[in-house]
Amino acid sequence: MSLTIAKTPGEVKAVIREWKKEGLSIGLVPTMGYLHEGHGSLIKKAVSENDRVMVSVFVNPIQFGPNEDLESYPRDFEADVKLIESLGADLVFHPEPSDMYEKDFSTTISVSGVSENLCGARRPGHFNGVCTVVTKLFNLSEADRAYFGQKDAQQLAVVKRMVRDLNANIEIVGCPIIREEDGLAKSSRNTYLSADERKAAVVLSKALKAGKEMIESGEKDASKVKAKISSVIDAEPLAKTDYVEICDWNLIEPVDIINNSVLVAIAVYIGKTRLIDNFIIEK
Ligand code: AMP
Repeated sequence: MSLTIAKTPGEVKAVIREWKKEGLSIGLVPTMGYLHEGHGSLIKKAVSENDRVMVSVFVNPIQFGPNEDLESYPRDFEADVKLIESLGADLVFHPEPSDMYEKDFSTTISVSGVSENLCGARRPGHFNGVCTVVTKLFNLSEADRAYFGQKDAQQLAVVKRMVRDLNANIEIVGCPIIREEDGLAKSSRNTYLSADERKAAVVLSKALKAGKEMIESGEKDASKVKAKISSVIDAEPLAKTDYVEICDWNLIEPVDIINNSVLVAIAVYIGKTRLIDNFIIEK
């Protein structure tokens, strides 16, 4: 099958209607484009598990705060289409903001609790924007499964909670973090980094590794693990910590003692660029 590019919700619905008539299973991979191997791993998994795959490429304005990088967010739709096609997906949805949000758009999906700490605390409204666009994509694609990276672990937890709470008829598939050779988690935002900053950015994965080793050798005191992670970050002159947190993985609430499954998550500024990374310990 060749790749179809849909620019409007109406065009997506027409394709989906045909797929549904044929009884085909559908996988959805929501992205903001400027695709890399991290996105690629989600698309590959979706292609292997579904009859048809839709990839959305949409820099969703309502999930950006007023002082964030909406305007400068990197875009290269032609390269994205090439990658998507080479991985065997069937449909790309690439709408304009005005196709997604009518002038009098008035509905917001808001998930409390799990969206309130970590990035939710630093980026007010961010997860409302994510949940609203993701719900629209779920409705348009009528997908059986949607694929999300653990790179954005809180987003994965928030979307899972929303789907459970609203009885949405879709399975959320979490996928592992894909990294550069030196450990830096792949991200479209890595393109903002200068050569020196790119070298410094390895401090995120290095700091997490130090924390992971402590937990694996039996440390249960979250404050000690956080102090270790912070000390590694602080040793890098170009890095400035936004947060270092250890949360219950199901609740996304900070813990003092590491007993249950935890998400160890960090956000760090490298120069002006804010990067996130994490690991999960399942118990
Ligand atoms: P984004 O385009 O940044 O909104 O990301 C779209 C999807 O790709 C999200 O589910 C991300 O978690 C996922 N993703 C981004 N980077 C990575 C990565 N390095 N490894 C795995 N998944 C990723």
